[in-house]
Amino acid sequence: MPELPEVETIRRIVERELAGRTLSSVELTLPKLVRDSPLPDLELLVGRTLLAADRRAKVLVTHWSEGLSVLTHFKLAGQLAVLRPDGTRIVAGHPVPDPEGPFPHKATHLTMWFDETVAYYSDIRQFGWWRLMPSDDVDDALAAFRFGPEGTGTAGFNRDDLAGRLQRRRIAVKQALLDQRVVAGLGNIYVDEALHRARIHPRRSANDLNPDEIDRLHPAIGWALDRGIEQGGAAIRRGKAYPRDGFPTVHARKDEPCTTCGSAIVKITVGGRGTYYCPVCQPEPAGVS
Ligand SMILES: [Zn+2]
Repeated sequence: MPELPEVETIRRIVERELAGRTLSSVELTLPKLVRDSPLPDLELLVGRTLLAADRRAKVLVTHWSEGLSVLTHFKLAGQLAVLRPDGTRIVAGHPVPDPEGPFPHKATHLTMWFDETVAYYSDIRQFGWWRLMPSDDVDDALAAFRFGPEGTGTAGFNRDDLAGRLQRRRIAVKQALLDQRVVAGLGNIYVDEALHRARIHPRRSANDLNPDEIDRLHPAIGWALDRGIEQGGAAIRRGKAYPRDGFPTVHARKDEPCTTCGSAIVKITVGGRGTYYCPVCQPEPAGVS
């Protein structure tokens, strides 16, 4: 968290609430937030207008007037809060600071004023980063991440390409799907959801899936990401799912009934990540305990 659906939700908020507005001032209280940045000083944005927001995998790209752009990665705990002049607010990303609570929070490291509209970036873990650069350099900067195709919303993600990328990996399919070079933007929650929908055990070896399983997995990935985006990101609080409309269906639902067969959802660890699955719908591979 935040995963692709959360970042896409933030992108939509930025487009709706901030695009067309001019930055009147900026306050950065955690200098390391702007690291490995071709241009180190966010003050360069003051007086410029935010034109548009794009996203590639889990990286938010904002474009500003006169040829500057910013790449933002929210990592584990980034959160964006926009407070409007009428006192209403919209908050997306990590659930801490409390979206209903006062801003700035002690974990708020960057404040951007667009006249009366204020945007707060908070990050309790401080792993997130902001990079300012000429807009002409954005494509190269994104290419350096070697992201795989987007798992949602584009023609670039096709079944055979996914099959090829999985075929080359002799690791658990759960771990393979978390590799951003396989599918860009898939994170822990959505991999669990896609594997459950495709009825594939998370410890199956990626290079061992049969064509029928790939046929099920490919649309399941798009489905999981789209469901997440639809509801503005999954809600997980203190390790428990707070589903809306039944999603997530397995992630963070240990001991709850599987929506397909009613069996109790099991939690295991795969590649160091908490992993949830249905032991009946997603049968254990032979030889793995
Ligand atoms: Zn089941």
